Amino acid sequence: MTIYENQSLLLLNTFHIDASARYLVEINSESDFLSLITDKKYIDSNKLVLGGGSNLLFTKDFNGIVIKNNLLGKELIKEDDEHYYVKAGAGEVWHEFVVWCIKNNYAGLENLSLIPGKVGASPMQNIGAYGVEIKDLFKSLEALDMQTGENVVFTNTQCEFGYRESVFKRKYKNRYFIKSVTFKLNKHPKFNTSYGAIEKELEVMGVKELSIKAISDAVIRIRSSKLPDPAQIGNAGSFFKNPEVPGAKYESLKQGFPTVVGYPLENGNVKLAAGWLIEQCGWKGKREGDAGVHINQALVLVNYGKAKGSEIYHLSSEILKSVHDKFGVDLEREVNIYDHL
Ligand code: FAD
Ligand code: NAP
Repeated sequence: MTIYENQSLLLLNTFHIDASARYLVEINSESDFLSLITDKKYIDSNKLVLGGGSNLLFTKDFNGIVIKNNLLGKELIKEDDEHYYVKAGAGEVWHEFVVWCIKNNYAGLENLSLIPGKVGASPMQNIGAYGVEIKDLFKSLEALDMQTGENVVFTNTQCEFGYRESVFKRKYKNRYFIKSVTFKLNKHPKFNTSYGAIEKELEVMGVKELSIKAISDAVIRIRSSKLPDPAQIGNAGSFFKNPEVPGAKYESLKQGFPTVVGYPLENGNVKLAAGWLIEQCGWKGKREGDAGVHINQALVLVNYGKAKGSEIYHLSSEILKSVHDKFGVDLEREVNIYDHL
């Protein structure tokens, strides 16, 4: 294990921000990590665990140690009449893991096909798409305490999952190095096709008999046609979360903006489509230098080439302000910011 100094992060984040790290280290085994935490450079530095870099924005050089998690492995560890229990190393590529599950008929993750990033980051914000979140299938995770190296197991409840949220984004921020995640997948699939354009896409594909593979294929086709590919244009997916507002606030918004897009939640609140709010403020397709709002997806901020992270952040602040001024709704950034300006 080598600790490299002054390393570029350009190829390690999907926003393609040309920031650098004071130190960079790759962890290929648990013992790598245990020896790292005794190193003075580690002890004295700010720390950032890195997966695929698809949910973060570097607003400046990272004056600390970036720890790239490369822990691999995926295995069926147990099964019963109803479920398969499948464990994956944090460094496994998320989509490859999903494809492997589908090939083995382990059902449940198919709606989460083609989400960029690594398995280890999936609990961080309880990744979700097309009506499924990992909390629905998550059994437990194993992590190492970043200070003591102690092994810790977190159950589903202990992760305190919420909408794009978990305990690891809040009170345990920077506290744990996630090693592996175990999912409880279904032997008898419960197909979930009611969300978004899945049903329509299955029809276009001419699917007669529903399967987890068909759903995954439909999701891949929809995502590929709608979302900007980070290989072509720098981005980190949705930059903001969809805000939740009380039902009464939604009703009053509807008076002024009859086409406002909202989805009622079980708790009486309404989830607003942040993309719609941003679009109504005139941001869709706007560009400030190389920082911009995607032409088809107002929720996605993009780097057209050489944007600095601080410029993307500045653009996001302008969007927050105009949505607040027009609708009285406060958006929250979903993307993790390193570090605040
Ligand atoms: P990184 O960006 O590397 O890290 C994200 C955070 O997790 C950081 O704070 C990091 O420190 C922490 N972290 C990463 N690994 C570990 C670990 N092993 N231990 C401890 N902390 C860790 N997200 C969705 O929820 N749904 C979507 O549908 C979706 N679609 C996307 C589409 C595009 C085109 C893009 C670019 C992004 C999308 N995202 C989506 C966001 C992103 O892909 C996910 O949040 C993904 O889980 C991030 O994984 P990563 O490995 O890239 O994490
Ligand atoms: P979409 O289908 O055009 O829908 C727009 C928004 O409306 C989504 O954000 C979604 O909320 C919400 N929505 C749609 N149908 C809904 C329903 N039946 N019930 C409740 N809410 C509904 O969205 P899209 O942009 O093409 O994305 C498709 C899926 O991929 C979404 O689930 C989205 O979250 C996910 N995605 C996430 C990211 C990310 O970076 N986080 C990036 C790309 C796509 P939700 O977002 O709450 O689902």
